[in-house]
Amino acid sequence: MRGEINREKTAQESEAVQIPELQAGWENSLAFITGQLPAYAEVGDEEAIFNLALLLGHPEWKEQIFSLIKREKPHVKNAGEIFERIQNSYAGWQKAGTHEPPLSKISWWAEHLPQLREKIAETISFFGPDPKTIPSQIEIMPGDTILAQNHGGMSFYVSSTGIIVARTGNFENSRHEFLHAIINPLTEKLRGKISEEKILELAGIKLKSLYGNSGYSILNEELIRTYNDFFADHKKLPTFEDMERATASMDETQFSKILSQEPDTKKRLTDMNVKTLREFKTRLKEYFNLYEKDLLRERIYNLYQGFGREKNANPRISFEDFLNKNVEKLFAE
Ligand SMILES: [Zn+2]
Repeated sequence: MRGEINREKTAQESEAVQIPELQAGWENSLAFITGQLPAYAEVGDEEAIFNLALLLGHPEWKEQIFSLIKREKPHVKNAGEIFERIQNSYAGWQKAGTHEPPLSKISWWAEHLPQLREKIAETISFFGPDPKTIPSQIEIMPGDTILAQNHGGMSFYVSSTGIIVARTGNFENSRHEFLHAIINPLTEKLRGKISEEKILELAGIKLKSLYGNSGYSILNEELIRTYNDFFADHKKLPTFEDMERATASMDETQFSKILSQEPDTKKRLTDMNVKTLREFKTRLKEYFNLYEKDLLRERIYNLYQGFGREKNANPRISFEDFLNKNVEKLFAE
């Protein structure tokens, strides 16, 4: 109406974010495809295969999943044919025997949904996300037999449903996977505004070795990990001094034990030609700068701290607004 004073409402003001309805469940399709991954190695994208396999149990998602692959995975050319192959071998798998879901693990999650709900509610309240991006229902599936050793979890968000695959008992990983629903849409909107080169320049070597040159995947992971692994639980980022302290109290036996348990660490030290704790101690700074230092993580941690302070003064501000205001600073020289 003319003459009326209009004030734009933010999404958060006009519509409260609903906490998703949670349930514990099982997707046979994901259990099936896990054992079949080597047969699709030439596709070069496990995530695409998992997404296509989901269609076995959710044919209603056909349009969304095919368009997701087209949009985000243009290197996967013949998604239709791949899906046909998956369908055929699934039929054979089903005929070959019964495949019982791990009922005790599903019940574990069913019993612990209130705790998970609390973590999700806290996360939503911190970020103040756009309600449209938050699924109305989430199924949590025990991933103990599905997740590869180096995978913490997996998640899929299609329409208003989320599927989170996490190891039984691992709330941190479940929260990590839920954070993808909040963070991915935010960075998607920043596409083109931040140079991927700059992201890669700031990021630590560990994430780069996991995600290669995909700057936006690294940015998502870094925003999620910094919040999930440190900020949310009031933990400080590990410093060089922390590392110095930890190695000071170590002996050679403990050192070799760590090397046998952590193949990645062992590989890094071999690359540096470090074999003993004694040698390691003399080159600690070099190791830290090479492998542990992560400028992007430091900047993001500061960003969350700044957001926390801003939120105290202005509880209605969303993380998205704050990020947009500070994104240039985040990636400045
Ligand atoms: Zn992740």
